[in-house]
Amino acid sequence: MGIHASFQNNFIAPNLSDARLASKRAYRMVIDGKSADALSGKLIERESPGHRGSIVGEWPAGSTADAALAIGAARRAFDDGRWPQMSGAERSTILHAVAAKILEHVEELALVECLETGKPLHQARGEIGYCADLWTYAAGQCRGLEGDTHNAIGANRLGIVLREPAGVVGIITPWNFPFIIVSERVPWALGAGCTVVVKPSEFTSGTTIRLAELALEAGLPAGVFNVVTGYGPEAGQPLAEDPRVDVLAFTGSVRVGTQLASIAAGGVKRVGLELGGKGPQIVFADADLEAAADGIAYGVYHNAGQCCISGSRLIVENSIRPALLERLLELSRRLPFGDPLAQQTRFGAMVSRPHIEKVASYVSAGVQEGAELLLGGDMVAASSGNFFAPTVFDKVRPDMRIAQEEIFGPVLATIGFDTREEAVALANGTAFGLSASVWSRDLETAIQTTRKLRAGRCWINSVIDGTPEMPIGGYKKSGTGRELGRYGFDEYSQFKGLHMTLGRGEPWFQH
Ligand code: NAD
Repeated sequence: MGIHASFQNNFIAPNLSDARLASKRAYRMVIDGKSADALSGKLIERESPGHRGSIVGEWPAGSTADAALAIGAARRAFDDGRWPQMSGAERSTILHAVAAKILEHVEELALVECLETGKPLHQARGEIGYCADLWTYAAGQCRGLEGDTHNAIGANRLGIVLREPAGVVGIITPWNFPFIIVSERVPWALGAGCTVVVKPSEFTSGTTIRLAELALEAGLPAGVFNVVTGYGPEAGQPLAEDPRVDVLAFTGSVRVGTQLASIAAGGVKRVGLELGGKGPQIVFADADLEAAADGIAYGVYHNAGQCCISGSRLIVENSIRPALLERLLELSRRLPFGDPLAQQTRFGAMVSRPHIEKVASYVSAGVQEGAELLLGGDMVAASSGNFFAPTVFDKVRPDMRIAQEEIFGPVLATIGFDTREEAVALANGTAFGLSASVWSRDLETAIQTTRKLRAGRCWINSVIDGTPEMPIGGYKKSGTGRELGRYGFDEYSQFKGLHMTLGRGEPWFQH
């Protein structure tokens, strides 16, 4: 496939002789504070998705036996108290030091993230900086994690709720935002006093390994933050199965998440799931159209549409639909995309060839079911990397697959509405409930609409926004549990009720 006629002016062809592609980085797992190879000696190689033929990373293909070693190390580090028994102040100091280490290594981490995921380098830089802030926030909050007292349960009774660390946490992460997702989980788990085993995606393990190494340099005791790499069924599934793991925090697809949750249920293990989405962007006729068009483009094309919180459904009031679509198409045709290493690139490559084929199959399904393809729909310069054109559908019916299923690519499905009730019904009319945007200049319209949306993260006049202070998580099939903010620490805490009798209590048996 060549370059699509619409995109000849804005596709940035990858420079395959860029010096930054020259050397393959070799990583090892981090178990009990030491670097480790897989017991089998097997390795996984990673080709840059935006630079066909360039191998940029290599890490161990760990197995169940390697995962067992990592879980054993985390269990010992928890049970001997080296981390959970530290004061909040001491833990906070170390987490702050990890944040400082991240900031010292922004350039290195951003390049690795860019080359392994295919996202633009400048975007990766911003993400690494944001992650340092996630660690800083958790570091500050973890000094103030308190329980509760109950002073009104009777004159000679006093109740204390003790907040305790939940134990060993198994964390499984996906490939789309490797450093953000690990940084949304690990500092909260560590801050609560837990120890962790992280299994990153087999596609993008480099920055997670570097994070664990930097944490050791920052003073985190050995065995508190372990990383086992490899494929999901071998290296990840033991985190759901092994009774030495107390909490499983999974981020990824609904398919794998539900499978792991049912395994974990057998051992009555606590599970937090952050799964897929099909985010609506509701645009009312009174919205600032210029801002909305820009936000819709950002919402659907950011990270090549591979965001769980993408705004992949445009639900637009019919009276402004032609004007908004015209503005959006103009933006989409001018958007620079392609080489992840180029400074002007707004979105880069997609993670893998099978994934891009899945996205293309959704485009075919949309056309077959009668939606109107206004722009894009196919791969671009396929011989140099996994690039897919910005793609816009109009005249989508809510029952079509492209309106219901998570495509995870730069593909927008447009549906019109006439009343606010209709917009809310359309927005809530999928199995997901992760995120949603409302665009309107009228506060009453925007807030009252948002209150009716069944989604864990909502925006008014913006999209894909976040901050460490605010909770994230899903309604419906988008997941269970909440991360970030004060709420995130509860996922990794146990609450113990301590009932005290002051003096002699009521006798049970009078004699
Ligand atoms: P995936 O479910 O295929 O893989 C996620 C992780 O699970 C990977 O580390 C993988 O190796 C592992 N895994 C796969 N099979 C396993 C098994 N049998 N046992 C244990 N682990 C296993 O998902 P993906 O393709 O990497 O990521 C894309 C998905 O993640 C999308 O659905 C996206 O919406 C979702 N996601 C959600 C959030 C959120 O916060 N809600 C954030 C990012 C991505």
